[in-house]
Amino acid sequence: MLVEANNSIGGGMRSAALTLPGFIHDICSAIHPLAVSSPFFKTIPLEQYGLEFIYPAVAAAHPFDDHTAAALYTSIAQTAETLGADKFSYQDLAEALLKDWLQISADVLAPLHFPKHPVGMARFGLKALTPATRFAKRFHSKEAKGLWAGIAAHALQPLSNATTSATALVLIAAAHSKGWPVAKGGSVALANALASYFVSLGGIIETNFYVRSLDQLPSAHAVLFDITPKQLLQIAGHKFSSFYKWQLQRYRYGMGVFKIDWALDAPIPFTAVTCRQSGTVHLGNTLEEIALSEQLTSDGKHPEKPFVLLAQPSLFDASRAPKGKHTAWAYCHVPNGSEVDMTDRIEKQVERFAPGFRDRILAKHVMNTTQIEEYNPNYIGGDIVGGVADIAQLFTRPALRLSPYKTSAKGIYICSSSTPPGGGVHGLCGYYAAKRALKDVFKIPAHRGY
Ligand SMILES: Cc1cc2nc3c(=O)[nH]c(=O)nc-3n(C[C@H](O)[C@H](O)[C@H](O)COP(=O)(O)OP(=O)(O)OC[C@H]3O[C@@H](n4cnc5c(N)ncnc54)[C@H](O)[C@@H]3O)c2cc1C
Repeated sequence: MLVEANNSIGGGMRSAALTLPGFIHDICSAIHPLAVSSPFFKTIPLEQYGLEFIYPAVAAAHPFDDHTAAALYTSIAQTAETLGADKFSYQDLAEALLKDWLQISADVLAPLHFPKHPVGMARFGLKALTPATRFAKRFHSKEAKGLWAGIAAHALQPLSNATTSATALVLIAAAHSKGWPVAKGGSVALANALASYFVSLGGIIETNFYVRSLDQLPSAHAVLFDITPKQLLQIAGHKFSSFYKWQLQRYRYGMGVFKIDWALDAPIPFTAVTCRQSGTVHLGNTLEEIALSEQLTSDGKHPEKPFVLLAQPSLFDASRAPKGKHTAWAYCHVPNGSEVDMTDRIEKQVERFAPGFRDRILAKHVMNTTQIEEYNPNYIGGDIVGGVADIAQLFTRPALRLSPYKTSAKGIYICSSSTPPGGGVHGLCGYYAAKRALKDVFKIPAHRGY
């Protein structure tokens, strides 16, 4: 049985007409490199339940002030062509990465364990645990440095933090192995397909069921909580050992996001053509500017020129907007709990690379960190990845334990993005937590014993 506080299931995978009738916006996740790379999703027949991924011609584009753009394509060679003097160094890096990725992806997107391919994993780990700013020193062109920084900034941390290259390498490997798709009809199609499959197996879903206490739940051998440590403590804290409780209390949340959705009269008029063909566009110009934006935000400030992640699903999925009209989705990072309205600063960043953008806006919908947390209580202070994934919390989220999914109380598990492998839509936190519960309760062997 699955219970959900909201009146619909989906969590970070809901879509709705947030602005005007007929304009379908992804309220949270929009781009799905991790879903298509998920070893778990590969094993379930989601297409039979209505899921269709659409792959934009360009996974991510990165415009510069001189109106040129770097771009991440599925093809390594095509990507390298956009990277000026770094054409060959990128090609070497990406080819080696992809070769390893095909063997190690299931090990990377999993809790810490002894890997199946230790050599490939060690090669990946050495690169992945280098701060993105240091890693970028291998590049010489503004194109490669900028593209790299924009991808690394998905980590929601200062680019000088050790794990930021891990995020970039995973997203680059995902782009070159599969792509960065959108879900036809909106991200909700993924939630609906998962729910339909669950029901087909005999699962029961109850919505409008906000869990505040264990007493509300039916008796069960195992309860898996798709929530973060802060909420778990409120609901089940009295069941935990004092050491486990102390560990959860020390858990740290990171930057929040300020999100905007636009209904548009026409596509965004990016000056650089590649940006008009891309599902995702990173607006931050140079590595230096992006690194500064992330550092300032982490220090509790609101940059004048924030790094903006923008998606334009309606360019590839006509079902998102009335004929000839478009939607766009964007957010920038802000300090946790910020209530500052970043609308003007985000729109200025879009206008900078797409003059005339503002004239195309028909309507908009914005959410600051408080509104994001009100919308989904998992987004504490606007943190959309369930807690900082820095070196101290990447492998030990939410606490240092043999199985990160198992709490100190029998039959109580945690399965949200506050567990490995962390934020993003991939279903793997729930998958590994379920494996662990099956092992404990029904003695079904868990995958390598997590
Ligand atoms: C603006 C935004 C943009 C994003 N973009 C992307 C993207 O493009 N690609 C990507 O891969 N990821 C993206 N993410 C991140 C991704 O959505 C999350 O990392 C992911 O959804 C986390 O999954 P989860 O299972 O931990 O929690 P959630 O998806 O948040 O699901 C938790 C569910 O539990 C429910 N719940 C919470 N508390 C209770 C309670 N007490 N009782 C009952 N039900 C409760 C919530 O309502 C929710 O439905 C984005 C997130 C946001 C907010």
